[in-house]
Amino acid sequence: MSIPKVQTAAIVPELGGDLTIKTDHPVPTIDSLQPGECLVKISHTGVCHTDLHAKMGDWPVKPMVPLIGGHEGVGEIVGIAPGTANSPVKVGDRVGIKWMADSCLDCEFCRKGLEMTCPKVKYSGYTVDGTFSQYVVSFVHHVTPIPEGIDSAEAASLLCAGVTVYKALKQSNTIVGNYVAIPGAGGGLGHLAVQYAVAMGLRVIAIDTGKDKKDLSLSLGAETFIDFKEEKDIVGAIKSSSEGLGPHAAIVASASAGAYKQAIDYLRPGGTLVCVGMPDADIGINAFWCVFKAIRVQGSYVGNRQDAVEALEMGAAGKVKVHYQLRELEDLKQTYEDLEAGKIAGRIVLKVS
Ligand SMILES: [Zn+2]
Ligand SMILES: [Zn+2]
Repeated sequence: MSIPKVQTAAIVPELGGDLTIKTDHPVPTIDSLQPGECLVKISHTGVCHTDLHAKMGDWPVKPMVPLIGGHEGVGEIVGIAPGTANSPVKVGDRVGIKWMADSCLDCEFCRKGLEMTCPKVKYSGYTVDGTFSQYVVSFVHHVTPIPEGIDSAEAASLLCAGVTVYKALKQSNTIVGNYVAIPGAGGGLGHLAVQYAVAMGLRVIAIDTGKDKKDLSLSLGAETFIDFKEEKDIVGAIKSSSEGLGPHAAIVASASAGAYKQAIDYLRPGGTLVCVGMPDADIGINAFWCVFKAIRVQGSYVGNRQDAVEALEMGAAGKVKVHYQLRELEDLKQTYEDLEAGKIAGRIVLKVS
């Protein structure tokens, strides 16, 4: 396969600034790669809310600029750096690029599978260039092999949204038959969380608003739907749909502090609150009720290499279907505007090449 010298890439020149679509962005040569790196030709990439936060420079930890965002990329390996030893992937393999692009693999956190907290971690589309371009440099020990049986557009969204909610459920301390509450069940993360939870044998209480999200949640296997705009006593309704005791776990992917506070009220004694959504705010959890109800509060941050493999396998097995809209890379600007306006249902996937 011949690799062109230039490519199309969506570039953020400065934080908070407008996006530029360049058609003459250089493609790194294979010889210029460092050992352990590979060049991936992207076919599809998902768009995540994090990409919008990166572009705006919203978070306390700032991204690099100029920046190519994107961390839900699927494509084919077209080259591996000279001097790379023991690569688990080869040229021609279909792989995924997730938020966690690389880590040292040798520190305490990497050894424990907490690679996302490695002091040397690199983030796709944040501290290294991401997937909003035709060719991207990634890392052979961290790309995710994409199993057969799942198309690339679908696999893209599982690499961030899917892995994130799958890992959160793994950390929810639940077993088959337990109840789990999912606020925001009809959203991008939520609709995947409902499906992973159902596949894991959990009984899902979906919380969201509107007929579309209700229909979607119930069609994906949620047992109960609670409309937070219509229901006056949300805590009461959640408890009464779980034997009067409350769910065993709550997966809070919402960026609202209120959703966290409420979870402490409705969780069953001994239950687990899994924190996924990231309001940059105090979440106001009451220590008395946490202690009195013996509630465990667990932060869950994306997933490690194994979590990504497992999340993709469930997609390939048909247990999880992504609701997405396909657009072109050139539509990224419009997509950010739609995301900001809250106009996106499900996920957006861009066709890159
Ligand atoms: Zn993401
Ligand atoms: Zn490490």
